[in-house]
Amino acid sequence: MSAWDQEIRQRMAMIRDQGRLRKSIPTSEAVQAVLIRDGKRLINLSSNNYLGLANHPTLIKAQQEGACLGAGATASRLIVGHAKETAELEEELSSYKGTESSIVFTSGYTANIGVLSSLLRRGDVVFSDRLNHASIIDGIRLSGARLYRYRHNDLDHLEWQLKEADRGGIRNRLIVTDTVFSMDGDIAPLADIVQLKEKFGAALMIDDAHGGGVLGFEGKGTADYLGVTEGVDFHMGTFSKAYGVSGAYVAGKKEWIEYVENTCRSLIYTTALPPTVIAGIRASIRLVRQREDLRNDLVKNSNVFRNQLRQAGFDTGGSTTQIIPVMVGGAEQAVQFSDLLCERGVLSVGIRPPTVPEGEARLRFTLMATMEESHLHQAITAIIETGQQLGVI
Ligand code: PMP
Repeated sequence: MSAWDQEIRQRMAMIRDQGRLRKSIPTSEAVQAVLIRDGKRLINLSSNNYLGLANHPTLIKAQQEGACLGAGATASRLIVGHAKETAELEEELSSYKGTESSIVFTSGYTANIGVLSSLLRRGDVVFSDRLNHASIIDGIRLSGARLYRYRHNDLDHLEWQLKEADRGGIRNRLIVTDTVFSMDGDIAPLADIVQLKEKFGAALMIDDAHGGGVLGFEGKGTADYLGVTEGVDFHMGTFSKAYGVSGAYVAGKKEWIEYVENTCRSLIYTTALPPTVIAGIRASIRLVRQREDLRNDLVKNSNVFRNQLRQAGFDTGGSTTQIIPVMVGGAEQAVQFSDLLCERGVLSVGIRPPTVPEGEARLRFTLMATMEESHLHQAITAIIETGQQLGVI
């Protein structure tokens, strides 16, 4: 065994000892409100398939037809991988998002790391909410820009940092924030952030992975919902969640998007999205725009679920959306809670550090529009009884 083998073994032992070991467990059948895992039927409170569209016949048919154009894109975008259908998608997307231009990426992760590292340079400064997604943090690290992490949704702290950075005579300033926070389910106060960005001459980038398709008119997203579309310079979002497909986009001013196309390494040096995915995304945007009923069902289900857990005494943080955390404290307790729920037919993965701050382990429930009353009732009962058993409530 090499010294490196030994070191990996030690590192894994540490992960295990700290209760942080994770496993990828295969699921079978469609990942809908109910799924099958290890032969067991579970109510699924862990997916990002918020509107239940991942198995929608319209999307599947569109992807089948898309596949007829070829199994793969054959090259990166700037070589020969930019299909006519992708260009059409980007036009539709710009008009949907209310921006001059837009560009699609293979995933939200690559969009964030690529855009942030191409926009920001050493000497620039970036203000990032402390609970922003890992891909934002990684993009900032890659850029070499100076990082200020402000306390979660704390605009006094952000303003203080903007003033502080002003003194250094620093060049470009970017504020970046998730819209709907992925582990907390609360919404960033975008209108106030836009005011601050204007006061200090900064730019603003939002990550609308969890707001797109869910919030705003026709699911246009959080900026539309809060009436600040114009105030946001960079709209980033994914097609992997409410849209039920895969891939991501960045939308904004024409010149800035053109700059991204010319400099963004995670876009330039990767094979473009395959035709089947592009077709799926186009069909999904059209469907999402029409399905106000699904958005209403999602809100209704989320409110019932959140209110009942709160009434039972759980701490659901600042959640006002379909992402609903239940704070349990320690990593081990989160795992135990999740295991006990699984025995009762409810799937919710415990979220532990380093995904969330130390001492803030939680169960994170994500609701779906397509859940039935019986699913909700069974899940809520199991969560309350398990919470009582473990002394969480
Ligand atoms: N941003 C946020 C806020 C996310 O929650 C995620 C997905 N977990 C991503 C970006 C990455 O998106 P994708 O899964 O498409 O890579």
